[in-house]
Amino acid sequence: MTVQIPLSDEALAPERAGPAHLHEVRPDLAYLRTALVNVVLIGHPNAGDRGWVLVDTGITGGREAIVAAAGARFGPGVRPAAILQTHGHFDHIGALEALSDAWEAPVLAHPLEHPFLDGRESYPPPDTKADGGIMPKLAPLFPRSPVDVSRRLRALPEDGTIAELPGWRWLHTPGHTPGHVSLWRATDRTLVAGDAVITTGQESAYEVAAQTAEMHGPPRYFTPDWTAAAHSARDLAALDPELLVTGHGRAMAGPLMRGALHRLADHFEEIAPPAHLQAAAPPTP
Ligand SMILES: [Zn+2]
Ligand SMILES: [Zn+2]
Repeated sequence: MTVQIPLSDEALAPERAGPAHLHEVRPDLAYLRTALVNVVLIGHPNAGDRGWVLVDTGITGGREAIVAAAGARFGPGVRPAAILQTHGHFDHIGALEALSDAWEAPVLAHPLEHPFLDGRESYPPPDTKADGGIMPKLAPLFPRSPVDVSRRLRALPEDGTIAELPGWRWLHTPGHTPGHVSLWRATDRTLVAGDAVITTGQESAYEVAAQTAEMHGPPRYFTPDWTAAAHSARDLAALDPELLVTGHGRAMAGPLMRGALHRLADHFEEIAPPAHLQAAAPPTP
């Protein structure tokens, strides 16, 4: 059994319950917990048309909830300035084609993630030997084929800025996928980490349902490059974030979160990869 880093409820980010099930963790940042995954809405309430940005688009069935949340927070029918994808896994792009069309919104992603967003390439098969629960065994059933939003797809600018998100920078955090990015705002030390690190287990069906608070590396069965994933986790820990919003699990904040993030980064190879890939794994008797 792999060691995990538990997080107490004291590490939960202070939040205000917003309309349409939104969790507001900054005056201009709220997230929606859909069945499997979080989507993040960045922008002040009533920001108006093109005054906000959607980060990730959840699963296919989550479209109505995203539209309702955006309408409640920013104004009825208002469109985002852009949709930014941390990466292109099925549980993060489910509503992407429908929403980018309906909103005529550009889709921002790292160039290395474009093949999975413009119909060129499928993700590699999952690691069904990954431990931690039933999900790795079910993972072959999860869709891996690319969506095609090539008409709207734009590369994130090389200098790390995001025109639609002043004050934010994107950081290349590969490992979980080749073009995975995280978002960082230095002024209030806010980190939106996608799946580079997550705050609940994604391997056990129980944990997915209960969202037990733990600091984790990226989901085990869908992470092909653990060396890059370790570098990315260390880069994120080195930022010393005050607030951490991830693709799975609840937003966490403060010194307990930071301590857990550093512990994960410092012992990544012993904690994060599947047991069968861990270099230091003891031989099974
Ligand atoms: Zn993912
Ligand atoms: Zn995910």
